[in-house]
Amino acid sequence: MNLVLMGLPGVGKGTQAEKIVEKYGIPHISTGDMFRAAIKEGTPLGLKAKEFMDSGNLVPDEVTIGIVRERLGKDDCEKGFLLDGFPRTVAQADALEEILSDLEKKLDYVINIAVEEDQLMQRLTGRRVCRNCGATYHAIFNPPKEEGVCDKCGGELYQRDDDKEETVRTRLEVNKQQQQPLLTFYEGKGYLKTIDGNKDINEVFEDVDQLLKGLS
Ligand SMILES: [Zn+2]
Repeated sequence: MNLVLMGLPGVGKGTQAEKIVEKYGIPHISTGDMFRAAIKEGTPLGLKAKEFMDSGNLVPDEVTIGIVRERLGKDDCEKGFLLDGFPRTVAQADALEEILSDLEKKLDYVINIAVEEDQLMQRLTGRRVCRNCGATYHAIFNPPKEEGVCDKCGGELYQRDDDKEETVRTRLEVNKQQQQPLLTFYEGKGYLKTIDGNKDINEVFEDVDQLLKGLS
């Protein structure tokens, strides 16, 4: 099964990825891991990517796409793969189609986990961190016994700037705008499957699993 996993920050993509990988035994291929592996192996493309990253620049598409091509050609992808974080643009999605066709493969599904915006805001703005020991809590899902106080050390809990409402809203907006053209692209190709992520982690996975059972 050849899959791409999509979803805005906070939809629980990482958790679903873990569950898919565990059940179906396909490699989870995230962009970050792919870069790290290519750099560690010292492949020519990995070294090129490292140059850009070391100088604080974005890795250009041709390098990223080359690394994806190498990765998807490896033996462990024979039974399938779960791509996560790639493609990010329609140009990359086009390149992926080309890579897969060269490898005589094709995508089965692009799974998009969708969660209502207010639900996402609640998830993403709820994190509280202890100033003293760094323990993390969530105002709703993992609250401390006493509001504003760390269970472990009694330290003061605060909200990081990254977790503040305005920052989160902007981040979601940017991600949404980036994702929309991709969703449209994959919808047009007939790969897109939207999964309702407004539920418990296990219920979401049941829906994902239902979809994937048909492939194996
Ligand atoms: Zn603490």
